[in-house]
Amino acid sequence: MFACDVHCYPWDLTDEGIGEVLDRLRDRIGATALTLVGACDAVEYFRPHVGVEPRWVRNPGGVFFEIEQDGFAATRIKPPLWDSSRRQDFFGRVSEGCADRKMEMQIRLCLFRSRRIVGRHPEVACKNVFGMPSRYAMCPHHPDVREYAMALIRELHRADNVAGIVLEDASSPRATDAESYWSATSVLNSEPAGLLNLCFCESSQQEAAKNGVDVEAAKRGAVAILDRGCQVGAEPEVDGRNWSDRNPAVARYEAWTQTQWTRLLQELRSSGHKRFVLNAARENFGLSNSKASSWPAEGDDRILLSAFDFVAHQENLEGNSGTEGGFHQIPRSQWELLLPWCEDSPEDAPATVREISRCAEAGMAGVSIDHYAAIREDQYDWIHQGLRRARRITTA
Ligand SMILES: [Zn+2]
Repeated sequence: MFACDVHCYPWDLTDEGIGEVLDRLRDRIGATALTLVGACDAVEYFRPHVGVEPRWVRNPGGVFFEIEQDGFAATRIKPPLWDSSRRQDFFGRVSEGCADRKMEMQIRLCLFRSRRIVGRHPEVACKNVFGMPSRYAMCPHHPDVREYAMALIRELHRADNVAGIVLEDASSPRATDAESYWSATSVLNSEPAGLLNLCFCESSQQEAAKNGVDVEAAKRGAVAILDRGCQVGAEPEVDGRNWSDRNPAVARYEAWTQTQWTRLLQELRSSGHKRFVLNAARENFGLSNSKASSWPAEGDDRILLSAFDFVAHQENLEGNSGTEGGFHQIPRSQWELLLPWCEDSPEDAPATVREISRCAEAGMAGVSIDHYAAIREDQYDWIHQGLRRARRITTA
């Protein structure tokens, strides 16, 4: 059946009632699966659901499923747990609720961004070329961060009631936080500004040096490219891609970062047998963040895909989302359209029906809707109509 999973934060289920929300997802929207956020960084959003408290959600983020503390013995980072999940056997009740309704449950994770963890362990933060630490990005080259990520994934690979693991971390964590990055792009063209996302923390430097990368030359090169970007203003004639390509030390450091990142994703996936899904939302790729973080780099998509079974991608069939990379090589049967609700959502019922049914016509597996609390009540029907049409197409 043409699939539809809806992303949901745990408190959306507890605030409105687990049974009520799951009924709504299945009966009013037509969803076949719940994608429950299992770990995330701080979030804040307005909830358009009349009568639900609180209407404005502000949560510091954390880990929302029960874990075996022993699994984290090899890392100093302990998961910042959400207390209510443990008290009320939240995870068990949600998975039972899904099973009763013949819905699948996937768990969505953000592994490498956490204000809470970086606050407790400042030594694991990514640092940009100027030595400025991130407030939330955790460097995958730090041994405690790698082990923490592996331990979380192992927990989920072991959980019987989890059908799949959805990873938000599509690209290597960016060393410069989004707000700071955007302030830099008011001065710099986005191409050289992308170098601000390369991590030069102590762990990254040590690992790179061990692998024979000339770190000092890479740092000097990155600063020189950024200086050049400052001199020629906001719209230089030569783009940064060419500048960094002309600087072999910077190019080498970038390539090393990307290779290490792909290896880590492959390791995470191969630590178990659960379906491993890439949530390729636009913000996870950082569209304007240039080479250093616009992963996959062109031509490298097959390497990235080798780490995943499935991709939920925001690019529509015209390929005009602007996301880079050769996603068209993904077999349609392993591709869901990621519909981020609100900012880029279809404007009305006909547009929603068109967008969803076009996915079915193209042989895509389904749609993935991010996220439940951002959908207005009238939009449930739009999605449901789209899904009915898509299912008629796929069974015809
Ligand atoms: Zn680092």
